[in-house]
Amino acid sequence: MSKSLAVLTSGGDAPGMNAAVRAVVRAGIYNGFKVYGVYKGYNGLLNGDVKEMNLRSVSDILSRGGTILYTARSKKFMQPEYQQQAADFCRSLDIEGLVVVGGDGSFRGARALSNLGIPCVALPGTIDNDIACSDYTIGFDTAMNTAVEMIDKIRDTAQSHDRCSVVEVMGRHCGDIALQTGIAVGATSIIVPEVPYDVERDVISRIYEQKDTGKKHFIVIVAEGVGGVQDISKYIQNRTGIETRATILGHVQRGGSPTLRDRLMATNMGVAAVELLTKGIGNRVIASHGGEIVDYDITEALNMAREFDNRLYDVAMQVSI
Ligand code: ATP
Repeated sequence: MSKSLAVLTSGGDAPGMNAAVRAVVRAGIYNGFKVYGVYKGYNGLLNGDVKEMNLRSVSDILSRGGTILYTARSKKFMQPEYQQQAADFCRSLDIEGLVVVGGDGSFRGARALSNLGIPCVALPGTIDNDIACSDYTIGFDTAMNTAVEMIDKIRDTAQSHDRCSVVEVMGRHCGDIALQTGIAVGATSIIVPEVPYDVERDVISRIYEQKDTGKKHFIVIVAEGVGGVQDISKYIQNRTGIETRATILGHVQRGGSPTLRDRLMATNMGVAAVELLTKGIGNRVIASHGGEIVDYDITEALNMAREFDNRLYDVAMQVSI
């Protein structure tokens, strides 16, 4: 049997996952492998839901959001006996390496399979940018561009009515989408989980200060990990008398055609993963570090602590006055 690789997407979907799948399939074939696409995350390895890909299987997907391989959260795969079943299935197809695109939960799955003798390389694929070992995750840029486009529209209506808009953006426990989007839309206030906030100090007084200099409409960005946009909105309206509306952007941020940055990063990372697997190296995470593509042992990567960009937060504070 000829040597084979496989690729799957797991956890939450992110724009750019398709670009990663395409890169793995093309680079795999380029390097002489048969490449299987595994459907619905780790479930595909348990259900035999795989398909051999060819060069044209991944045509026209570079610009598509979502993931053509579908994604899933597999509870079964959390159990050792099913991990063994998945490893045995890989061996039955002579799979010498698996690329997993997903978040840190998916990395743990990749580590489990690597420990069972199936070399796995994981790529950070999540809109949240919440992977400690990588300063960039596939999908982050597209999600932020979508958020900016939506908030620009919200600003138009807030401006026409002299309103305040409180907008929740995604990111779970990570405030990066909120911070970078907030700067890009000129938010009056940006509330992130990494920085303790006081609504009087960080929202109300900023609104009053800006009102004093003639500003009449306001955007407050709240990270998903902070939440409570309805309450913050009511509070602002009661305290300031400014008509205030709350918007939760939600899943729109997960969709759409990936930006250049996401396509490029996903392609670069996908090819880097195949390079490692071609050498028989597994149990690694591909990451971006200061513009370079690097890789780490999965356990080392999982043990790293995320660092919030305090300088960028300070930048936001200096210009949102
Ligand atoms: P996102 O950041 O979008 O949530 P994620 O990869 O962190 O992505 P999870 O739901 O945490 O999402 O994990 C995805 C899948 O990875 C799980 O459904 C499970 O199949 C597998 N997985 C997670 N944790 C483990 C673990 N400790 N051992 C084995 N497999 C795991």
